[in-house]
Amino acid sequence: MAATKKALQIRLPPLPSIKDVIRLYKLRALRELSQNFLMEPRLLDKIVNAAGNIENHVVCEVGPGPGGITRSIIQRAPRKVILIEKDPRFVPSLELLADACRDKVDVDIITGDILKTDIGHFIPKDVKTDWLDSPPPVNLIGNLPFSVSTILIIRWLEMISKQEGPWAFGRTRMTLTFQKEVAERMAARILSSQRCRLSVMCQNWCTVKYKFDISGGAFLPKPDVDVGVVTLTPLKHPIIQQPFKMVEKVVRQIFSMRQKYSIRGAQTLFPEDVREEMALRMYKMADIDPVTRPYQIANMEFARIVNAYSEIIKQYPEFEHYDYRAKKVPEAVVEEAV
Ligand code: SAM
Repeated sequence: MAATKKALQIRLPPLPSIKDVIRLYKLRALRELSQNFLMEPRLLDKIVNAAGNIENHVVCEVGPGPGGITRSIIQRAPRKVILIEKDPRFVPSLELLADACRDKVDVDIITGDILKTDIGHFIPKDVKTDWLDSPPPVNLIGNLPFSVSTILIIRWLEMISKQEGPWAFGRTRMTLTFQKEVAERMAARILSSQRCRLSVMCQNWCTVKYKFDISGGAFLPKPDVDVGVVTLTPLKHPIIQQPFKMVEKVVRQIFSMRQKYSIRGAQTLFPEDVREEMALRMYKMADIDPVTRPYQIANMEFARIVNAYSEIIKQYPEFEHYDYRAKKVPEAVVEEAV
């Protein structure tokens, strides 16, 4: 029988349970920071296991809170753990954990907003791999705050498209939680009722896997929704090979009328007087049937549409900055449907 390599496990000294940590440090959950804590070691391990083997890897955890997932990460013997937490109240409990593994794992605790933190700055340079190689020994893991999760994933997709930040080191993998409906949309395939802009965007730059659900009841306090755990591995080559902002604009407009023929949304890419003609020209160039609905369009077909759009704006540069939404709602801040 072939010998299987046993994963290295770091044994932490006895520590108070997460529930006790919360009580000891008086860590009342703040709704404004989407604080919902996971207590059950089995679930914490399940999230970290979804990331695969992280032994000797650099692991960046977003929003560690009292450190439940962090414990599970440390037990898997990573080389270095980078913790990014906005709420400074958690620092003492995270320092307790860092002290407990001081000789074995290097733990950086960064108090800051993930949306303003350059994670790449904390990753050792020697882990860098070529983009076309296997992913580097770097993982992003997080039970993300609902309040930032969609903004964050869109921002990270743009960084992936430019190979910046943690993706300057290669095709860094992510294991993240989202509100269940958002996770389902991210992984939704063509023809699915959940298919939307977020599905096309995520799947254009990553392989997205919906791993499992966690019931809202497993969190303290219990959120109103359930949670989905998703892994994302950047693709070697995106399917739609055009700049991020252009892809985002075309896909957003096409999905802006989800139930209508997709050409209706596509028309809103162009000023009113030329709208019908240009959208039809774009669909002809892309060889897409105008009566196709947005959720019936595969990413390969979106690639043809965005390529056609790119050709059209080369010919008519004045259309490039046309913004249908700016015209419709000049001042309002629009909550985007994802
Ligand atoms: N990881 C812990 C767990 O699983 O029990 C806590 C998860 S809780 C859903 C989200 C965590 O993200 C909280 O600790 C919260 O303070 C933190 N957080 C919220 N907004 C953040 C931001 N913009 N940047 C970094 N951390 C943030």
